[in-house]
Amino acid sequence: MANRSETLFTEAQEHLVGGVNSAVRAFRSVGGTPVFMRRGEGAWIEDEDGKQYVDYVLSYGPLAIGHAHPEVVEAISRTAANGTSFGAPTALETELATVVKGIMPSIERIRMVNSGTEACLSAVRLARGYTGRDRILKFRGNYHGHVDALLVEAGSGVLTLGIPGSPGVPAAVTEMTLTAPYNDIEAVRTLFETYGDTIAAVLVEPVSGNMNCVPALPEFLQGLRTLCDDSGAMLVFDEVMSGFRASLGGAQGRYGVTPDLTALGKVIGGGLPVGALGGRAEVMDYLAPTGPVYQAGTLSGNPLAMASGLATLRNLSRPDVHAQAEAWTTRLLEGLQARARAAGIPLVTHQAGTMFGLFFTDAPSVVRFEDVAECDGERFVRFFHGMLEAGVYFAPSAFEAGFVSTAHDEAALSHTLDAAERVFATL
Ligand code: PMP
Repeated sequence: MANRSETLFTEAQEHLVGGVNSAVRAFRSVGGTPVFMRRGEGAWIEDEDGKQYVDYVLSYGPLAIGHAHPEVVEAISRTAANGTSFGAPTALETELATVVKGIMPSIERIRMVNSGTEACLSAVRLARGYTGRDRILKFRGNYHGHVDALLVEAGSGVLTLGIPGSPGVPAAVTEMTLTAPYNDIEAVRTLFETYGDTIAAVLVEPVSGNMNCVPALPEFLQGLRTLCDDSGAMLVFDEVMSGFRASLGGAQGRYGVTPDLTALGKVIGGGLPVGALGGRAEVMDYLAPTGPVYQAGTLSGNPLAMASGLATLRNLSRPDVHAQAEAWTTRLLEGLQARARAAGIPLVTHQAGTMFGLFFTDAPSVVRFEDVAECDGERFVRFFHGMLEAGVYFAPSAFEAGFVSTAHDEAALSHTLDAAERVFATL
């Protein structure tokens, strides 16, 4: 008998492209049927057949304090009762901006948008407008949303689906996009020698979460800062994923390297659609209406989304809350390592705050995109399905990071580690 997910997926495919609204959800790289979810609470989600899973996807990052947190639900409900959108300024937008600025001091001014893609798109336009230059530089395996100019050697679903770039992106649009290997500062220096005075921006995921989870080497980020300073290019940190995760203050808080601009998304909306672009006031004020670079959005700064983000960030910024989730992440990885070792499975793990990566490889370290690509993909697929069956939900791709929330507790940990012990034994 077909389970509910199979039935629902068959039906969905009649109406939605590939049965999904975001390519990465389709289980293409792991095979099988995507599991349809119907509710979440804390660290747990429940599928349409009533089966429970410990969730390490957390909507691909946003749910830093877990599913349906009472403070978030209350904030959204209270706000919705007064109307859902005005197309006029609201106090909530300034409130969220103030909280974000308090957490990330590099941000002096902020523009709310509706997704991480929009934040990155606007970052590129603003950097080009501000510097009067056209070239941008990005890294192999980094993903910055489905922005035409940035769909070059991108990570996440672009990797998973094996699409090299994408049809529909004219060559003329990517002509001004340079790419370099991640964590290779010498390659960047060489590009700057040739193109330095024409580069508007370097975009980087300071902790990459779209080639699995690969933190930048500290000297790589410092090197980028120096090259940008010397050449007048904007350093743009794409902290859509690492923001409020790599540390509460994001990767910039963790590494102590200050970008000119920061793209945010995911946690800033606490599970509702929000992205944001922030940075130095002088640069940000180049955006309309104070400056000439156009940017706008009907639902930007939406009250429900602001309320959800505010409730999430206020909770997460209370003393020790983020630190506890980080400590829990460390215990998860140590537990997985111990069980993999006992089963004779070579496993490399990465942690950046509440983001993590699991790599089935006997290589000593995983630093570049090529290192990720060489991991045992077939073993990952068996691990993924084994854990899914055992009630543990990881992203259905070896190129996605894992996430922990403040709601993950002892029960979730022991459920996960017991499952891993059984699954490692079958690999
Ligand atoms: N940048 C990074 C680093 C991301 O991880 C993502 C999404 N996974 C994006 C940008 C795009 O964000 P969105 O999906 O909200 O458009």
